Amino acid sequence: MKILRGLGVSAGVAVGPAQLIFPGHIKVSRTQIPPSEIPKEIKRLEEAIEATAQEIQRLKAQLPENLGEVHAILEAQRLIVKDPSLSSEAEALIRKGFNAEWALFKVLDRYRQAFAELPDEYFRERYQDLASMVEKVIFYLQGHRSGNAWEEKSIIVAQDLSPADTVGLKPDLTLAFVTEGGSRTSHTAIVARSLGIPAVVAAKGVLKEISPGDLVAVDGTTGEIFIAPEPEIIAEFSQRARRFQRLKERLHQVAHLEAQTKDGRRITLQANLDLPEEIPFVREYGAEGIGLFRTEYLYVSRRELPSEELLFETYRQVVESLRPYPVTIRTLDIGGDKFASGLELPEEINPALGLRAIRLCLKQEDLFRTQLRAILRASAYGQVKVMFPLISGVAEFLRARNFLERIKEELAQEGHPFDPEIQVGVMIEVPSAVAVADLLAKEADFFSIGTNDLIQYTLAIDRGNEEVSELYEPLHPAILRLIKATVEAGHREGIPVSMCGEMAGDLLYIPLLVGFELDELSMTPQSIPEVKLFIRELEFRHCRELVERVLHLTCQDEVKEAVAAVFGPRLQEFSKRLWSE
Ligand code: PEP
Ligand code: MG
Repeated sequence: MKILRGLGVSAGVAVGPAQLIFPGHIKVSRTQIPPSEIPKEIKRLEEAIEATAQEIQRLKAQLPENLGEVHAILEAQRLIVKDPSLSSEAEALIRKGFNAEWALFKVLDRYRQAFAELPDEYFRERYQDLASMVEKVIFYLQGHRSGNAWEEKSIIVAQDLSPADTVGLKPDLTLAFVTEGGSRTSHTAIVARSLGIPAVVAAKGVLKEISPGDLVAVDGTTGEIFIAPEPEIIAEFSQRARRFQRLKERLHQVAHLEAQTKDGRRITLQANLDLPEEIPFVREYGAEGIGLFRTEYLYVSRRELPSEELLFETYRQVVESLRPYPVTIRTLDIGGDKFASGLELPEEINPALGLRAIRLCLKQEDLFRTQLRAILRASAYGQVKVMFPLISGVAEFLRARNFLERIKEELAQEGHPFDPEIQVGVMIEVPSAVAVADLLAKEADFFSIGTNDLIQYTLAIDRGNEEVSELYEPLHPAILRLIKATVEAGHREGIPVSMCGEMAGDLLYIPLLVGFELDELSMTPQSIPEVKLFIRELEFRHCRELVERVLHLTCQDEVKEAVAAVFGPRLQEFSKRLWSE
């Protein structure tokens, strides 16, 4: 048995076989096939091709009907795999004595060169589609279940998973995620939490130590990873799982309670939504609406851009199922660490500071128009708010807001119903937005603080980089001051201020956030019940006093100590009670 440790970023435990994902890093060895074995090798190739095509077909059959575009993509993939020229070229090489894996690898190499010479960029890029399908077949030949279309419940081990990879994995077959890279606020961790899948990131050495099929036990709270666990550990994990399950059940029972401090300060708790599939969680855990709908996952999970109809239908369903609570839809935040195949974005040396989020939307008006039309149309079906990400100043916000006004006129002329009074908010996640928060507050209907990016940009620390993750500190005095300044600026103009970064769902920070007088906190749905219970044990008065005290401190360690001195024992006692009841 071996024990590795990473950062537990999504609670829960799992024990199961490992499935390794190496997107784009397939290794193929060459062996000589004796003439007598050639027919058998050709049969192996044919079987692998057929099995891969069938897996794609199976995946397609399991998808809901309304995902028409995904069906089309899968069908195109199936046709690539079954293309007769692929199999006949590989077969010709096998007849020369090469193994099937090597034959496919060579065919792929020839295609790579041929595609590279194509004049049209669109067709050049289609090489990737072909390559990923051929890799699936090779993977199958190597004895792995191909790509991510395996059927056994597994623990996914990878260097890192892009948001698209994460979304593409089937939640019911994914017991846990373990990655070498990543951090608490990387998007993979966020998606894992929203889907309720245990996850450990920044786990150095896992790819070297774990082989496909190894039995692995993962604890997404403590960050422990046991490879080939001994029977006692397996028994302990089933106990941990039972305790976690009991806790979840208990939290369900309190989901309907109000988030109100003992001395009567009421805070609205809402859910962050990454995928529409999470809606049942949102309701179960007692969210009073959606404080952040990250719409980009509708883009990263498909090759083509989603149509207005598809976006509208998705938003409408979410809005209707949340009624009478509000749904805050954030316009596309693509770029940075999130990519969509349907969008041609320049390769940037520094994507976090590049053409991301609102900057991209203001540059590509058609992209922006489609989203805003869909959001506005959905606003006829319930309470919808819209907010713009990565706003850096007033001019940028007004450009986006004016564009929205133009779209309203367009829709009115076409006779589409929508909410003419739809509220428009600013995400506060760039330090310059805080510096002009007083001015922004005059133009916006609400603020929502995105601490994941606000911390990244203020402290100059890449939120996804495990090398600097220790420096990523929400309790840095600079961050506390920015939060305070934002809330004050918003309240002076009478607009509500929410927080939707990961900081909002962490019990450790809750007393401070209550003391800062945030009106709403939006978090992964699973965190809502315990945050609610904790708020009900606090006194607003004490939270205010804590804020007064920490704002005079000079460094994060002092802040941490001050928070721990006042609320540490209380938090420990609370967690103990929660887990043991
Ligand atoms: C944030 O930056 O805090 C935020 C909520 O947005 P995202 O994590 O999607 O960038
Ligand atoms: Mg952000």
